[in-house]
Amino acid sequence: MQFAELGLIQPLMTAVAAEGYTTPTPIQQKAIPHVLAGKDLLGLAQTGTGKTAAFALPILQRLAEKAPAQHQRARPIRCLVLTPTRELASQIGDSFRVYGKHLPLRNAVIFGGVGMEAQKQALRAGQDIIVATPGRLLDLAGQGLVDLKPLEVFVLDEADRMLDMGFIHDVRKVIQLLPRERQTLFFSATMPREAQELADQLLKRPERVAVVPPSTTAEKVEQEVFFVEKSDKRPLLTEVLNDAAMRRVLVFSRTKHGANRIAEHLEKHHIGAAAIHGNKSQGARERALEQFKTGKIRVLVATDIAARGIDIDDVTHVVNFDVPEVPETYVHRIGRTARAGASGQAMTFVQADERADFFAIEKLTRQQIPVVEGHPFESSVPMNIIPKSIDPQRRAKLERAEEDAERRAQGLPRNDRGRGGRGGPPRGHGGGGGGPRPAQGGGPRPAQGGASFGGGGGGFGGGGGQGAPRPGGGGGRRRRSR
Ligand code: AMP
Repeated sequence: MQFAELGLIQPLMTAVAAEGYTTPTPIQQKAIPHVLAGKDLLGLAQTGTGKTAAFALPILQRLAEKAPAQHQRARPIRCLVLTPTRELASQIGDSFRVYGKHLPLRNAVIFGGVGMEAQKQALRAGQDIIVATPGRLLDLAGQGLVDLKPLEVFVLDEADRMLDMGFIHDVRKVIQLLPRERQTLFFSATMPREAQELADQLLKRPERVAVVPPSTTAEKVEQEVFFVEKSDKRPLLTEVLNDAAMRRVLVFSRTKHGANRIAEHLEKHHIGAAAIHGNKSQGARERALEQFKTGKIRVLVATDIAARGIDIDDVTHVVNFDVPEVPETYVHRIGRTARAGASGQAMTFVQADERADFFAIEKLTRQQIPVVEGHPFESSVPMNIIPKSIDPQRRAKLERAEEDAERRAQGLPRNDRGRGGRGGPPRGHGGGGGGPRPAQGGGPRPAQGGASFGGGGGGFGGGGGQGAPRPGGGGGRRRRSR
């Protein structure tokens, strides 16, 4: 596909050509037509996929359709892009400038940590597009310098990071300044519960577009799945870590509290581990990362968002301790191993109520992931039973109750984060919501031969001391390809 086929106007085509872009990236191909049509958009994409141009180009085109006269003062702000960091704000501002250089539109960048005077002057001069971090924008709005009522397009960029950095209250305050009638574009690389709630609140009948890293990433990773019940996941993790080939292991946990508990469990079993997530200080995160990089600890337990910003080569294994609710997240996660041409391995621990989410991953990646059978913690729930994916709100409630109980036991105060009581409609990704999903290929999964899975020196059945193997579970580890 060529840029011309997207229906972009000549001034934009010229700017894009000058940048040396020949073909639109997948997110641009998918998003630009929807944005040009005035639709709301939910975009699942990371930085680096070309997502800035995916929203900046069609926004510029829409605004240019009725651009104000060149010297008109007191221009209304017609587009606001809200972004978590000043670096990102600057980059996006630059992109608007570059793509819009043949159009009579103005943009300014607003962020904290620098003097206010230049930004005030820019606002007084009148801008069509503002790219801002939330704190400074609210500051300037409080001084009467920012009127967002005439806004036509609102972009919330890197929503997950925004939430993880604790900006939710500021974001909500900004949203209150916006008109109800507007076009909203919501971008996030991952979709944790709070991000989904925010999206539900902001978007009206959105189009959903998602891009995953090139499929070759997934293809290079050797993947396997363990069917296991929730209470057995931690012992299973210590069990698989008996394999010395698991030198540098990134474990993904859906929740911050869960990440802490996994790291504590491993430490108790003398496996060097640390957790990183949004509640940890910058210093603690950097220390954990350093220890992981230098091999002082073997395991880093991370939430999706915390893992995003980190660059570690040579991760030998990724363990999905929880199944991500959004299937694209799986591809992002396993892409952390098999970097720079290396091969890597990924294991996914699936409890019964996560099976539906797991099969959505197989569907997205168009593969059947081999099942490890005969491990000591194998689920006793038959394979052909696929309970409905648990309702995210119910799951969140259960997780909170569990966390409270644990905190009480440790004499800690209740964690009130994220108890806003808001809760939009249940999520609807991946075709959930309906009844139990039929097993792929229809009916129960075929039991194939149970190919022997040796070679790796993995060492199930060899005992390792912890976690009493289940009666009847012996027989060593076999991998069944389906
Ligand atoms: P982003 O994800 O928006 O941060 O973009 C990542 C990089 O890709 C930026 O340096 C862009 O200049 C570049 N880029 C965006 N779209 C294209 C394209 N269609 N062809 C080549 N490079 C692009």
